[in-house]
Amino acid sequence: MSELETRHGIGVSPGTASGPVVQVAPAVRAPAAEPAAADPEAAIEQIRGALAQVAADLEERAARADETGQQILKATALIARDKGLVKSAGKLVHAGTGPANAITGAVEEFAAQFQALGGLFAERVTDLRDVGSRAVAAVLGVPIPGVPEMVEPSVVVAEDLAPAETATLDRHKVIGIITSAGGRTSHTAILAAQMGIPAVVQVKAATEIAPGTLVALDGDTGEVMINPSPAYVAAQEEKRKKRTRAIAGLSGAGSTRDAHAVALLANIGGPEDAVAAAAQDVEGVGLFRTEFVFLSADRAPTVEEQADIYRQVIEPFGERRVVVRTLDAGADKPLKFADLGPEENPALGRRGLRLSAERPELLDSQLEALAVVARETGADVRVMAPMVATAEEAAWFNRRVKENGLPKAGVMIEVPAAALRSEHILAEVEFGSLGTNDLGQYTMAADRMQGELADLLDPWQPAVLDVIAAACLGAARTGRPMGVCGEAGGDPLLALVLAGLGVTSLSMAPAKVPVVRLALSMHSYPECQRLAAVARAARTARDALDAVREEANRELVDIL
Ligand code: PEP
Ligand code: MG
Repeated sequence: MSELETRHGIGVSPGTASGPVVQVAPAVRAPAAEPAAADPEAAIEQIRGALAQVAADLEERAARADETGQQILKATALIARDKGLVKSAGKLVHAGTGPANAITGAVEEFAAQFQALGGLFAERVTDLRDVGSRAVAAVLGVPIPGVPEMVEPSVVVAEDLAPAETATLDRHKVIGIITSAGGRTSHTAILAAQMGIPAVVQVKAATEIAPGTLVALDGDTGEVMINPSPAYVAAQEEKRKKRTRAIAGLSGAGSTRDAHAVALLANIGGPEDAVAAAAQDVEGVGLFRTEFVFLSADRAPTVEEQADIYRQVIEPFGERRVVVRTLDAGADKPLKFADLGPEENPALGRRGLRLSAERPELLDSQLEALAVVARETGADVRVMAPMVATAEEAAWFNRRVKENGLPKAGVMIEVPAAALRSEHILAEVEFGSLGTNDLGQYTMAADRMQGELADLLDPWQPAVLDVIAAACLGAARTGRPMGVCGEAGGDPLLALVLAGLGVTSLSMAPAKVPVVRLALSMHSYPECQRLAAVARAARTARDALDAVREEANRELVDIL
C-alpha cells in the first residue's frame, strides 16, 4: 500500500497530526496443534527466558512512562517475574504440552486462582493474560502484542485500544490514534479526547496499513490520508497554525458574539483528569463520571474511600461548579459490585438510577460522601442522576439528594421519554443535562457500542435534534438550565446548533473547549438560532451538517 489514498472515519478527538504508523500487534494465541517438546528441559528454559524478557521489557517501559503508566507496567512486570508461572508451565511441558500452550495453561491456572481469591487479585487477571500473550509471542518469535516501543513521534493504529492500553500511551510520542473499530462514544474516543491526542475511529482496513507508512489524520473531519504529499501536510500544518492563532486570543467564560452566555465545562473521570482540567480555562465540571473511578473495583467503596476520591476531584476547582453524576453502572459501563446478574438487553435494563431501586445503599453512600466533601470544602457541588425516565424518578432522586444535605440536584436527559417530558421532570430538580450519547442511542434504537451503526448514531440526525429541541423547550418553560454533557457538545458546529436550541452550558473533554469557545464567539445568538433551524429543516444527518457548514462563519469552517 504505497499510493496516496484518503479514507474517512469518524473524528473523535480534535486536532491534526502526521507521522509514521506504528501498528498495535493483536494478542497472540498458542497454536492449537503444537507438538510436545523434544527436550523438555530446553523448553522450560525457553519459557523462563520468554517471561524474563517480557518482565524486562515492561520494566524498561515503566521507567519512561508517566505516573499512571508506571504503576500499571511495573505491576504487570511483577507478574511476569513470578517463579510459580515457570513451575506450572514446566509441569505441563513434562506432561507433553508444547511450550506456548504450557504458558497459556499455566496462566489460566493462575487466572482461576486469582479469580477465586477475588479482590485485588481478580482485578489482575487481564494483566496476567497480557503477560501470557506476550510470553507466547516471545516463544513463537512473533511480534509482541500491544503498543510497540516508539522511537519517534508516531500515529498509533489498532483495531481498538483497551482502556489500560490507552492510559499507558506515551503522550509525547503518540501524536495521533487511528482505529478500525470503536465509535464516537467508545472509551478509546473518550480517553483520547481527555488526553488531547487527535483520534479517528472506524477507519476501514486501518490495521492493514504497513508500519512506517506516513499518514496524516484530522480528528475533526475524520479524514485519514495515507502517504500524504508534502503539500497536503504543509496545508494541514498551516490550518493547525491558523487555528492555534485564532483560539489564542480568546479566554474566559463562553458566550456568543452578542454576549449570550453558554458555560464551557469539562467532562472528567477521576482525580487525575480533575487536576489536568482545573488547570485549563474551563468554568468547572459539567460531568464527573463517578463510575470510571470504580471500573475495576470488585467491592463497593466505603463512604470514607469515596470521600477521599471526591475531595481530590472537587478541591482543584475551588469555587467553580462541579457536577457529579451518581454511578451510571450497567450496559457499556459494568461495575462488578453493582451487578444485578445477566439481562437480555442491558442498555434497556436496570442501569443508572434504576439500580437504586435494588441497591439504594450505593446511592446513599455516594450522596453521604459528597455531602461530607461539600461541607468541608464549601465547594459548589451539584449532583446529577443518570438514566432518568420519569418525573417520579426525578422527584425521588431530588428528595434523597436534599435529605443528605446537598443543595442542588439535577438529572441527565438521555432517555427520549425524559426529553419529551422535560418540563415536568425539570420542575422536580434544579437542572438538566442532555446526555446526547445515550439520547442518540435510544432515539435511533442503535447500540452505541456497535461502531457499524455509526451513521445512525450520528448526533446530527435530525430526529435527535428534534428530541433535543423538545427537551430545551420544556426546560425553558420551567426557567431551569439545560446543559449538554454528551460528546455532541464538543463539536464546534453542533455546539452552535445546541446553543441555538437553548442549551445553557456545554461540557466536553477540556481539549475541545478552545475551539467551541471560538465558534460561539464568532456567532450571535440569533445566528445560532438560525443554524439550529437550518439543521432541523434538513432531511438527513449529512444534509444537516452540510447546511450548517454552508451557513456558519467561513473563517471558522476553514480551520475545522
Ligand atoms: C451520555 O450518555 O451522553 C453521557 C454523557 O453519559 P455516558 O457517555 O457516560 O453514558
Ligand atoms: Mg449516558
